[in-house]
Amino acid sequence: MALCEHFKPGSHPYEVLLVLDDHLGPTEALVRCRACAQSYLIELLDWLGSERLFRVAEPDAAATRTLLRDLERGSCDLARAGEEVRHFSLISERLPVLLLLDTDENVIRRRIDVVDADAIPAASWRELPCDGEWIERTQAARL
Ligand SMILES: [Zn+2]
Repeated sequence: MALCEHFKPGSHPYEVLLVLDDHLGPTEALVRCRACAQSYLIELLDWLGSERLFRVAEPDAAATRTLLRDLERGSCDLARAGEEVRHFSLISERLPVLLLLDTDENVIRRRIDVVDADAIPAASWRELPCDGEWIERTQAARL
């Protein structure tokens, strides 16, 4: 599995289906490619100014359908919805790629292939420093 070719620098090929977490803009979101309809889970790893660096995972197709259906049904049980989202995130398969998005221009700045996926922190952005270090590393191509 890989990120589809439609995620190119300078483009904005996706729509946001669901924002799972937010801080001045989506930090975890389920997105769908407009060209090929593939869904991805993007999770914030780092940010610097208007640039946000995201991990990318490919969620299970059946789990995506179930999650969207359950949320659309508008269950008021937020605790249950939160659990469902966490479970969903856990069963998504991480892809060996990072996306650098520019939130001012709303485009993909770069897509960075990751050689050693285990070197990328798996923690939630809320537990990460988000101090620009990972963005600097991708610019130095030390992945
Ligand atoms: Zn695509």
